[in-house]
Amino acid sequence: MPYTYDDQNIFAKILRGEIPNTTVLETDHSLAFRDIEPQAPEHVLVIPKGAYVTYDHFANTASDAEILDFTRAVGKVCDMLGVAPSDGEGYRMISNAGENGVQDVPHLHVHVLGGRNMGRMVAKAGS
Ligand code: 5GP
Repeated sequence: MPYTYDDQNIFAKILRGEIPNTTVLETDHSLAFRDIEPQAPEHVLVIPKGAYVTYDHFANTASDAEILDFTRAVGKVCDMLGVAPSDGEGYRMISNAGENGVQDVPHLHVHVLGGRNMGRMVAKAGS
């Protein structure tokens, strides 16, 4: 079933400039900004400017230019934050999707988290 994009979601409002954000990087097709409730010393959200709900939606339907721009933006953010293992201590990248992924904002975003040990990837069932 095709995705339906809700243009009233909070990240759509950020992209339209209706809500302020702390921008880390802006490119032709992507925006990176600090999470309002950081879960780690470094917590940046990277989003495409296009109307995509989830990573699979983006990966399956975005243009090559958007995918290239977004992928490079994530890499640049890791460099800017100094979390890339090549010269930093590493990071966790997360993209939640849908109900089981516990996605709150229905506009594709990847969380880039660093500055502390992130622990195991997911909690074990029942814990
Ligand atoms: P999700 O659960 O959808 O993967 O994550 C949504 C993220 O968006 C959360 O980490 C939340 O703190 C962040 N967030 C929600 N509203 C705002 C906002 O208005 N500004 C910013 N910068 N982050 C937000």
